Amino acid sequence: MASQSELRSPETGTESGGEAEYRMLPVPEALTLVLAQSHALPVVELPLAQVLGMVLGSDVLAPDPLPPFPASMKDGYAVVAGDGPGEYPLVGEVRAGGVADFTLEPGQVAYITTGAPLPPGADAVVMVEETSQFGRDGAPWVRIGATVDKGADVRAVGVDVAEGQVVLGRGTRLGPAELGILATVGQAVVPVHRRPVVGVLSTGDELVEPGAALGPGQIRDSNRAALLAAVAALGGEPLDLGIAGDEADALAAALQRGIAQADILLTSGGVSMGDLDLVKPLLARLGTVHFGRLLMKPGKPLTFATVATERAGVADQAAGGAADQGAEGAHRCLVFGLPGNPVSSMVTFLLLAVPAMRQLAGATNPHWPRVQAELAQPLRLDAYRPEFHRATLQWDVARNGGRGGFVATSTGIQASSRLLSMRTANGLLLLPVGEETLPAGAVVDALVIGEL
Ligand code: AMP
Ligand code: MG
Repeated sequence: MASQSELRSPETGTESGGEAEYRMLPVPEALTLVLAQSHALPVVELPLAQVLGMVLGSDVLAPDPLPPFPASMKDGYAVVAGDGPGEYPLVGEVRAGGVADFTLEPGQVAYITTGAPLPPGADAVVMVEETSQFGRDGAPWVRIGATVDKGADVRAVGVDVAEGQVVLGRGTRLGPAELGILATVGQAVVPVHRRPVVGVLSTGDELVEPGAALGPGQIRDSNRAALLAAVAALGGEPLDLGIAGDEADALAAALQRGIAQADILLTSGGVSMGDLDLVKPLLARLGTVHFGRLLMKPGKPLTFATVATERAGVADQAAGGAADQGAEGAHRCLVFGLPGNPVSSMVTFLLLAVPAMRQLAGATNPHWPRVQAELAQPLRLDAYRPEFHRATLQWDVARNGGRGGFVATSTGIQASSRLLSMRTANGLLLLPVGEETLPAGAVVDALVIGEL
């Protein structure tokens, strides 16, 4: 493995893989490059209870109709519609879960509950509110007070789901309603794209665990906690890779371990211009660096690489058969060298890594939803880089002459080190480059990154 001195003395005389070598890429261009490298993971079969939030790997068809029998929609009496209002003998009953052991003849009625199969011979239901029961010669009779059409209050076979119907298409993201649909068609085992295993590695000699006492020059590692949580919340399978120091060999080993185990590796720190910022040159050595600088604020040093490895001996290590993209034994990892500053790492993760995660998970639309919002206060634009300004988006019913609209309230000072600027932020305002200050009330586009 390369030593530190090797990494800092390349033939070119500049830092190998250093930030200065990379063209500053606009974010949309970078996202296109990332998505072109992000391929859906293989389809696996999982129990229904485990697939919430995952993406369906094939179409799901209904094997039988719903309802499978003509079912009553009401509690009341099964009748022959043509009989009309009048008094009729009660000849039987059928409750949900049972079946009639008789055939209804014209001039008879049968008690029926919601969801019960209509007895043979009956063709409509009269709800109980339109009826009254009485005795005649010791036998039960029913007074029917309403005229009903054939089929009234009866769910015909297959009205809700037809036999053979595609109830869910491949590529559908499975939410609670979709899980209900899978259950109703008997799909107890579901073909879904595997969740991406997302490794999170912090880098920096100054970092300690949150529970540790701070020594001189040390700070607590916040990026890993935030990124692991974000990965889990967004449907990835988080893999905690700990903290690596800034020593080249140890860092390289930690990177390689992560690359072998994860579909996506998120590192934070070590991608800026310092002499110990070794992540870029190490990635350039291990694989292909697609870009190393972004035209954005915050997050300029974001680096994206792909690394292909043979998985010899490592596949078994990755729990749950993780990471088996492509051919047998071959494995490909997407590596995001996120900046160290806490806000920069979160924002670049959201903008570039999350769409990649979604695409690996099989999503057909990997993008964040967008809304337009009115600024609650004036915001000064950046003269050089488009800014992703953290804001709280709220629906205000009084805006737009009572039609309502979103209002964006800035989270305050936007320093890339100030994680408090992400607190309660559910929007990233897309602020263009400019010399001016946008006035309060100006309408801007915003990515919706949290619950509205
Ligand atoms: P770097 O990109 O390594 O130069 O880091 C930039 C800044 O982010 C430095 O002030 C680091 O101390 C800080 N930083 C790096 N990693 C983390 C982390 N995991 N948690 C909190 N701060 C970090
Ligand atoms: Mg560092």
